Amino acid sequence: MIVDCHTHINCAAGEAGTSEHLTAAETVDTCIVLAAAAGSSQEVNKKLSEYVSKYKEKMVGFALIDPTMDNTGVKNLTSVTGKLGLKGAVLYCSSCGFHPAHSRAMQFYESAQQLGLPVFFHNGPHLEPLAVLDYAQPYLLDEIGRTFPALKIVIGTMGMPFVEQTLSIVAKHENIYADLTIKPGSAWQVYNMVVAAYEHGVMDKLLFGSGFPFSSAGECIETLLGFNKLLGDTNLPTVPRGNIRNIIERDTLELLGIKK
Ligand SMILES: [Zn+2]
Repeated sequence: MIVDCHTHINCAAGEAGTSEHLTAAETVDTCIVLAAAAGSSQEVNKKLSEYVSKYKEKMVGFALIDPTMDNTGVKNLTSVTGKLGLKGAVLYCSSCGFHPAHSRAMQFYESAQQLGLPVFFHNGPHLEPLAVLDYAQPYLLDEIGRTFPALKIVIGTMGMPFVEQTLSIVAKHENIYADLTIKPGSAWQVYNMVVAAYEHGVMDKLLFGSGFPFSSAGECIETLLGFNKLLGDTNLPTVPRGNIRNIIERDTLELLGIKK
């Protein structure tokens, strides 16, 4: 079982935007498709729902939620999950300019926890100039983890550039995970991230992701499985291949409580 927990589609590009996504998804069993912060939540979520409902066996959609703008009561969220068939939520705190523990966001987490809706924090690394980098800091999720311990949370792209904070948070909170979306061409960055996670003892909290369209699942898997080759004849620390394979083969849907 391979689940890609981090992909996007370009709904605006129509068929062309989705055909590439379908091709990239052939490598994996299931992929989570995160709605983009590109317009009103209602419109974006409707388009995402139309796409994922065509490929129910393969795709799981996460709805765009901006708690400062959207109605995040249990009733409204139930229509997102029920009517649109979306199975989680994605929040863009930096791009949308709200603190992760904003009072309205805290109300949203309460509803999400009640409904068993996992929440993905997407705060980088392709941030626009006006995005608030401060709100991307993973330590800000500590308050959310303490207040809503049963809420399933994923920190996107290892919380880059704040990887050390991410490792501390996932070690501290049982239900907070990190998405190991890597840049296959950035060998040194990949090496440091994986070794740091191994040394922190949190390899079992990492979920496989590709970040499509920035890279594909196939490329990411190849890079991760060839991990120790990056080291050549050096004496640098290595990570057992089995631990890396476990990340790739992790049943993310079960961990996040998602039923297809
Ligand atoms: Zn992304």
